Amino acid sequence: MAQRASARVINCEFIQFHPTAFYHINAPCFLISETVRGEGARLVDGNGKPFMERYDRKWKDLAPRDVVARGIYQEMLNSGASNVFLDLASYIPRAKIKGHFPTIRQECLRYGVDITRDLAPVVPAAHYFCGGIWVDEWGRTTVDQLYAVGEVACTGVHGANRLASASLLEGLVFGDRISREINKSLPGSSAPSPEDIPAWQSTGSEEPDAALVQQDMSSIKNIMWNYVGLVRNDHRLARAIRDLRSLETEIERFYRSVRLTDELIGLRNAVRAAIIVAAAAWSNKAGMGCHYREP
Ligand SMILES: Cc1cc2nc3c(=O)[nH]c(=O)nc-3n(C[C@H](O)[C@H](O)[C@H](O)COP(=O)(O)OP(=O)(O)OC[C@H]3O[C@@H](n4cnc5c(N)ncnc54)[C@H](O)[C@@H]3O)c2cc1C
Repeated sequence: MAQRASARVINCEFIQFHPTAFYHINAPCFLISETVRGEGARLVDGNGKPFMERYDRKWKDLAPRDVVARGIYQEMLNSGASNVFLDLASYIPRAKIKGHFPTIRQECLRYGVDITRDLAPVVPAAHYFCGGIWVDEWGRTTVDQLYAVGEVACTGVHGANRLASASLLEGLVFGDRISREINKSLPGSSAPSPEDIPAWQSTGSEEPDAALVQQDMSSIKNIMWNYVGLVRNDHRLARAIRDLRSLETEIERFYRSVRLTDELIGLRNAVRAAIIVAAAAWSNKAGMGCHYREP
Protein backbone atom coordinates (compact mmCIF):
# COMPACT_ATOMS: atom_id res chain seq x y z
CA MET A 1 0.00 0.00 0.00
CA ALA A 2 2.88 2.33 0.86
CA GLN A 3 4.61 1.60 -2.43
CA ARG A 4 1.43 2.41 -4.36
CA ALA A 5 1.39 5.73 -2.50
CA SER A 6 4.94 6.17 -3.89
CA ALA A 7 6.81 5.67 -0.60
CA ARG A 8 10.38 4.42 -0.97
CA VAL A 9 10.67 0.70 -0.19
CA ILE A 10 14.10 -0.89 0.32
CA ASN A 11 16.01 -4.12 1.11
CA CYS A 12 13.01 -6.32 0.30
CA GLU A 13 15.13 -9.31 -0.73
CA PHE A 14 16.20 -9.85 2.89
CA ILE A 15 13.72 -12.32 4.32
CA GLN A 16 14.87 -14.36 7.25
CA PHE A 17 13.78 -17.99 7.55
CA HIS A 18 13.64 -19.84 10.83
CA PRO A 19 15.03 -23.36 10.40
CA THR A 20 12.63 -25.31 12.57
CA ALA A 21 8.89 -24.66 12.52
CA PHE A 22 6.80 -27.60 13.75
CA TYR A 23 5.26 -29.33 10.73
CA HIS A 24 1.81 -30.77 11.13
CA ILE A 25 -1.17 -30.49 8.86
CA ASN A 26 -3.47 -29.31 11.67
CA ALA A 27 -1.01 -27.26 13.71
CA PRO A 28 -0.63 -23.50 13.44
CA CYS A 29 2.94 -22.46 12.62
CA PHE A 30 4.91 -22.51 15.89
CA LEU A 31 8.65 -22.50 16.19
CA ILE A 32 10.81 -25.05 17.96
CA SER A 33 13.48 -22.93 19.60
CA GLU A 34 17.06 -23.22 18.42
CA THR A 35 18.09 -23.81 22.03
CA VAL A 36 17.07 -27.48 21.67
CA ARG A 37 19.99 -27.89 19.25
CA GLY A 38 22.12 -25.91 21.67
CA GLU A 39 21.35 -28.63 24.24
CA GLY A 40 22.37 -31.39 21.81
CA ALA A 41 19.31 -32.24 19.67
CA ARG A 42 20.16 -33.17 16.06
CA LEU A 43 18.42 -32.63 12.76
CA VAL A 44 17.80 -36.01 11.15
CA ASP A 45 16.26 -37.40 7.96
CA GLY A 46 13.34 -39.84 7.77
CA ASN A 47 15.69 -42.72 8.73
CA GLY A 48 16.86 -40.93 11.86
CA LYS A 49 20.30 -40.10 10.36
CA PRO A 50 21.85 -36.70 11.18
CA PHE A 51 22.64 -34.76 8.00
CA MET A 52 23.92 -31.28 8.93
CA GLU A 53 27.54 -32.42 8.70
CA ARG A 54 27.14 -32.44 4.91
CA TYR A 55 26.27 -28.73 4.92
CA ASP A 56 28.64 -27.45 7.63
CA ARG A 57 31.40 -29.85 8.51
CA LYS A 58 32.58 -27.87 11.52
CA TRP A 59 29.45 -26.54 13.22
CA LYS A 60 26.91 -29.12 11.97
CA ASP A 61 23.58 -28.56 13.78
CA LEU A 62 24.97 -25.44 15.47
CA ALA A 63 25.78 -23.62 12.22
CA PRO A 64 24.19 -20.14 11.79
CA ARG A 65 20.43 -19.95 11.27
CA ASP A 66 20.55 -19.38 7.52
CA VAL A 67 23.04 -22.21 6.90
CA VAL A 68 20.88 -24.66 8.87
CA ALA A 69 17.67 -23.50 7.11
CA ARG A 70 19.32 -24.00 3.70
CA GLY A 71 20.69 -27.40 4.74
CA ILE A 72 17.18 -28.54 5.64
CA TYR A 73 15.77 -27.12 2.41
CA GLN A 74 18.41 -28.93 0.32
CA GLU A 75 17.82 -32.16 2.21
CA MET A 76 14.08 -31.94 1.51
CA LEU A 77 14.73 -31.12 -2.15
CA ASN A 78 17.14 -34.07 -2.56
CA SER A 79 14.87 -36.61 -0.88
CA GLY A 80 11.50 -35.26 -2.00
CA ALA A 81 10.40 -35.35 1.67
CA SER A 82 7.99 -32.70 2.89
CA ASN A 83 9.93 -32.19 6.16
CA VAL A 84 12.90 -33.32 8.22
CA PHE A 85 12.94 -34.15 11.96
CA LEU A 86 14.45 -32.93 15.20
CA ASP A 87 15.70 -35.74 17.37
CA LEU A 88 15.84 -34.71 21.03
CA ALA A 89 15.18 -38.13 22.55
CA SER A 90 18.42 -39.80 21.34
CA TYR A 91 20.67 -36.97 22.50
CA ILE A 92 19.16 -35.29 25.58
CA PRO A 93 18.16 -37.12 28.80
CA ARG A 94 14.38 -37.40 29.21
CA ALA A 95 14.34 -35.48 32.51
CA LYS A 96 16.28 -32.62 30.96
CA ILE A 97 13.88 -32.39 27.99
CA LYS A 98 10.95 -32.22 30.42
CA GLY A 99 12.67 -29.68 32.66
CA HIS A 100 14.13 -27.40 29.96
CA PHE A 101 11.46 -27.47 27.26
CA PRO A 102 8.06 -27.87 28.96
CA THR A 103 6.20 -25.52 26.57
CA ILE A 104 7.59 -27.07 23.37
CA ARG A 105 6.83 -30.52 24.77
CA GLN A 106 3.27 -29.51 25.66
CA GLU A 107 2.64 -27.94 22.23
CA CYS A 108 3.98 -31.00 20.37
CA LEU A 109 1.98 -33.36 22.60
CA ARG A 110 -1.22 -31.62 21.47
CA TYR A 111 -0.48 -33.01 17.99
CA GLY A 112 0.52 -36.47 19.20
CA VAL A 113 4.31 -35.98 19.19
CA ASP A 114 6.12 -36.73 22.46
CA ILE A 115 9.59 -35.17 22.06
CA THR A 116 10.96 -37.30 24.93
CA ARG A 117 10.32 -40.32 22.67
CA ASP A 118 9.39 -39.31 19.10
CA LEU A 119 11.07 -37.39 16.31
CA ALA A 120 9.55 -33.92 15.87
CA PRO A 121 8.69 -33.07 12.22
CA VAL A 122 10.06 -29.65 11.21
CA VAL A 123 10.46 -27.39 8.16
CA PRO A 124 12.00 -23.93 7.68
CA ALA A 125 9.48 -21.06 7.75
CA ALA A 126 9.53 -17.41 6.69
CA HIS A 127 10.19 -15.57 9.92
CA TYR A 128 11.08 -11.93 9.47
CA PHE A 129 11.09 -9.27 6.75
CA CYS A 130 14.28 -7.19 7.27
CA GLY A 131 13.43 -4.73 4.49
CA GLY A 132 10.32 -2.64 4.05
CA ILE A 133 9.19 0.96 3.91
CA TRP A 134 12.21 3.19 4.27
CA VAL A 135 12.00 5.29 7.45
CA ASP A 136 14.32 7.68 9.22
CA GLU A 137 15.06 7.40 12.95
CA TRP A 138 11.66 9.03 13.69
CA GLY A 139 9.64 6.65 11.52
CA ARG A 140 9.09 9.21 8.76
CA THR A 141 8.71 7.73 5.26
CA THR A 142 9.37 9.57 2.01
CA VAL A 143 5.65 10.46 1.84
CA ASP A 144 4.71 13.52 3.87
CA GLN A 145 2.84 12.59 7.08
CA LEU A 146 3.05 8.84 6.40
CA TYR A 147 4.82 6.97 9.22
CA ALA A 148 5.76 3.30 9.37
CA VAL A 149 6.60 1.24 12.44
CA GLY A 150 7.27 -2.42 13.15
CA GLU A 151 8.16 -5.21 10.77
CA VAL A 152 6.70 -3.31 7.81
CA ALA A 153 9.31 -0.55 8.21
CA CYS A 154 12.98 -0.70 7.25
CA THR A 155 14.89 1.21 9.90
CA GLY A 156 18.19 -0.34 8.77
CA VAL A 157 18.98 -1.69 12.24
CA HIS A 158 18.85 -5.31 11.06
CA GLY A 159 21.17 -4.92 8.10
CA ALA A 160 21.00 -7.94 5.80
CA ASN A 161 20.17 -10.44 8.55
CA ARG A 162 18.38 -9.85 11.82
CA LEU A 163 19.49 -11.17 15.19
CA ALA A 164 16.96 -13.33 17.03
CA SER A 165 14.22 -11.75 19.19
CA ALA A 166 14.77 -8.15 18.09
CA SER A 167 11.09 -7.29 17.62
CA LEU A 168 10.87 -5.28 20.83
CA LEU A 169 13.34 -2.87 19.28
CA GLU A 170 11.11 -2.39 16.22
CA GLY A 171 7.80 -2.33 18.07
CA LEU A 172 8.58 -0.65 21.36
CA VAL A 173 11.56 1.63 20.81
CA PHE A 174 10.49 2.88 17.38
CA GLY A 175 6.80 2.89 18.39
CA ASP A 176 7.63 5.21 21.25
CA ARG A 177 9.83 7.48 19.14
CA ILE A 178 7.25 7.75 16.36
CA SER A 179 4.37 8.53 18.71
CA ARG A 180 6.44 11.35 20.25
CA GLU A 181 7.35 12.67 16.80
CA ILE A 182 3.70 12.58 15.62
CA ASN A 183 2.50 14.37 18.77
CA LYS A 184 5.10 17.04 18.24
CA SER A 185 4.79 17.58 14.50
CA LEU A 186 1.11 17.13 13.70
CA PRO A 187 -1.15 19.70 15.34
CA GLY A 188 -4.50 18.20 16.44
CA SER A 189 -6.44 20.40 14.00
CA SER A 190 -4.80 18.76 10.96
CA ALA A 191 -6.10 15.27 11.83
CA PRO A 192 -8.67 14.21 9.21
CA SER A 193 -12.13 13.54 10.48
CA PRO A 194 -13.87 10.34 9.28
CA GLU A 195 -16.55 12.49 7.57
CA ASP A 196 -13.89 14.07 5.34
CA ILE A 197 -13.04 10.69 3.83
CA PRO A 198 -15.21 10.02 0.77
CA ALA A 199 -17.15 6.76 0.74
CA TRP A 200 -15.71 3.97 -1.40
CA GLN A 201 -17.28 3.79 -4.86
CA SER A 202 -17.54 0.16 -5.85
CA THR A 203 -17.11 -0.37 -9.57
CA GLY A 204 -18.55 -3.90 -9.65
CA SER A 205 -21.62 -5.43 -8.07
CA GLU A 206 -20.85 -9.11 -8.59
CA GLU A 207 -19.42 -11.10 -5.62
CA PRO A 208 -15.83 -12.33 -6.23
CA ASP A 209 -15.56 -16.07 -6.68
CA ALA A 210 -13.95 -17.37 -3.46
CA ALA A 211 -12.42 -20.34 -5.31
CA LEU A 212 -10.51 -17.98 -7.62
CA VAL A 213 -9.28 -15.84 -4.72
CA GLN A 214 -8.09 -18.89 -2.78
CA GLN A 215 -6.39 -20.47 -5.79
CA ASP A 216 -4.57 -17.24 -6.66
CA MET A 217 -3.36 -16.84 -3.06
CA SER A 218 -2.15 -20.41 -3.02
CA SER A 219 -0.33 -19.84 -6.37
CA ILE A 220 1.44 -16.77 -4.91
CA LYS A 221 2.56 -18.80 -1.88
CA ASN A 222 3.85 -21.65 -4.06
CA ILE A 223 5.73 -19.34 -6.41
CA MET A 224 7.34 -17.52 -3.48
CA TRP A 225 8.28 -20.69 -1.62
CA ASN A 226 9.71 -22.50 -4.65
CA TYR A 227 11.33 -19.68 -6.63
CA VAL A 228 11.96 -16.82 -4.18
CA GLY A 229 12.57 -18.89 -1.03
CA LEU A 230 15.73 -19.94 0.76
CA VAL A 231 17.85 -20.50 -2.34
CA ARG A 232 17.52 -18.10 -5.25
CA ASN A 233 18.97 -18.08 -8.75
CA ASP A 234 18.40 -16.25 -12.04
CA HIS A 235 16.15 -18.95 -13.56
CA ARG A 236 13.88 -19.22 -10.55
CA LEU A 237 13.58 -15.47 -10.08
CA ALA A 238 12.91 -14.77 -13.76
CA ARG A 239 10.17 -17.39 -13.76
CA ALA A 240 8.70 -16.04 -10.50
CA ILE A 241 8.55 -12.47 -11.83
CA ARG A 242 6.91 -13.62 -15.08
CA ASP A 243 4.29 -15.71 -13.29
CA LEU A 244 3.58 -13.08 -10.64
CA ARG A 245 3.15 -10.30 -13.23
CA SER A 246 0.72 -12.39 -15.18
CA LEU A 247 -1.19 -13.16 -11.97
CA GLU A 248 -1.20 -9.48 -11.05
CA THR A 249 -2.77 -8.55 -14.39
CA GLU A 250 -5.55 -11.08 -13.76
CA ILE A 251 -6.04 -9.96 -10.16
CA GLU A 252 -6.18 -6.25 -11.12
CA ARG A 253 -8.82 -7.00 -13.74
CA PHE A 254 -10.79 -9.01 -11.21
CA TYR A 255 -10.32 -6.29 -8.56
CA ARG A 256 -11.84 -3.67 -10.81
CA SER A 257 -14.80 -5.69 -11.99
CA VAL A 258 -16.29 -7.25 -8.82
CA ARG A 259 -17.47 -6.08 -5.41
CA LEU A 260 -14.52 -5.54 -3.08
CA THR A 261 -14.01 -7.91 -0.14
CA ASP A 262 -11.31 -8.07 2.51
CA GLU A 263 -9.92 -11.24 0.88
CA LEU A 264 -9.68 -9.62 -2.53
CA ILE A 265 -7.91 -6.55 -1.16
CA GLY A 266 -5.49 -8.89 0.66
CA LEU A 267 -4.89 -10.84 -2.55
CA ARG A 268 -4.11 -7.68 -4.52
CA ASN A 269 -1.69 -6.55 -1.80
CA ALA A 270 -0.12 -10.01 -1.62
CA VAL A 271 0.71 -10.20 -5.33
CA ARG A 272 2.19 -6.66 -5.27
CA ALA A 273 4.27 -7.47 -2.16
CA ALA A 274 5.46 -10.71 -3.81
CA ILE A 275 6.56 -8.81 -6.93
CA ILE A 276 8.41 -6.25 -4.79
CA VAL A 277 10.34 -9.05 -3.03
CA ALA A 278 11.05 -11.02 -6.23
CA ALA A 279 12.20 -7.92 -8.13
CA ALA A 280 14.51 -6.90 -5.26
CA ALA A 281 15.98 -10.41 -5.16
CA TRP A 282 16.49 -10.31 -8.93
CA SER A 283 18.29 -6.94 -8.80
CA ASN A 284 20.67 -7.89 -6.01
CA LYS A 285 23.04 -10.32 -7.74
CA ALA A 286 25.35 -10.60 -4.72
CA GLY A 287 24.20 -13.07 -2.11
CA MET A 288 24.53 -11.71 1.42
CA GLY A 289 22.89 -12.18 4.81
CA CYS A 290 19.52 -13.84 4.42
CA HIS A 291 19.44 -13.22 0.64
CA TYR A 292 21.17 -16.32 -0.71
CA ARG A 293 21.91 -16.48 -4.46
CA GLU A 294 23.15 -19.74 -5.94
CA PRO A 295 26.47 -19.10 -7.70
C1 LIG B 1 6.34 -17.90 13.85
C2 LIG B 1 7.02 -16.61 14.27
C3 LIG B 1 7.70 -16.54 15.50
C4 LIG B 1 8.34 -15.34 15.89
N1 LIG B 1 9.04 -15.32 17.07
C5 LIG B 1 9.64 -14.18 17.47
C6 LIG B 1 10.37 -14.11 18.70
O1 LIG B 1 10.48 -15.08 19.44
N2 LIG B 1 10.95 -12.92 19.06
C7 LIG B 1 10.86 -11.81 18.28
O2 LIG B 1 11.40 -10.77 18.64
N3 LIG B 1 10.19 -11.84 17.09
C8 LIG B 1 9.59 -12.99 16.66
N4 LIG B 1 8.94 -13.03 15.44
C9 LIG B 1 8.80 -11.79 14.68
C10 LIG B 1 7.71 -10.92 15.35
O3 LIG B 1 6.60 -11.71 15.69
C11 LIG B 1 7.23 -9.81 14.39
O4 LIG B 1 8.36 -9.13 13.88
C12 LIG B 1 6.35 -8.80 15.12
O5 LIG B 1 5.21 -9.44 15.66
C13 LIG B 1 5.89 -7.70 14.14
O6 LIG B 1 4.99 -6.86 14.80
P1 LIG B 1 4.22 -5.74 14.02
O7 LIG B 1 3.29 -5.09 15.00
O8 LIG B 1 5.18 -4.88 13.29
O9 LIG B 1 3.43 -6.51 12.87
P2 LIG B 1 2.24 -7.57 13.03
O10 LIG B 1 2.31 -8.28 14.34
O11 LIG B 1 2.29 -8.38 11.77
O12 LIG B 1 0.96 -6.64 13.06
C14 LIG B 1 0.46 -6.04 11.89
C15 LIG B 1 -1.04 -5.95 12.06
O13 LIG B 1 -1.60 -5.22 10.96
C16 LIG B 1 -2.76 -5.88 10.52
N5 LIG B 1 -2.99 -5.54 9.11
C17 LIG B 1 -2.33 -5.98 8.03
N6 LIG B 1 -2.83 -5.44 6.91
C18 LIG B 1 -3.82 -4.62 7.30
C19 LIG B 1 -4.74 -3.76 6.61
N7 LIG B 1 -4.72 -3.65 5.28
N8 LIG B 1 -5.62 -3.09 7.35
C20 LIG B 1 -5.65 -3.17 8.69
N9 LIG B 1 -4.82 -3.97 9.41
C21 LIG B 1 -3.93 -4.68 8.71
C22 LIG B 1 -2.48 -7.35 10.72
O14 LIG B 1 -3.67 -8.08 10.81
C23 LIG B 1 -1.72 -7.33 12.05
O15 LIG B 1 -2.55 -7.43 13.15
C24 LIG B 1 8.30 -14.21 15.04
C25 LIG B 1 7.60 -14.28 13.83
C26 LIG B 1 6.99 -15.47 13.44
C27 LIG B 1 6.24 -15.50 12.11
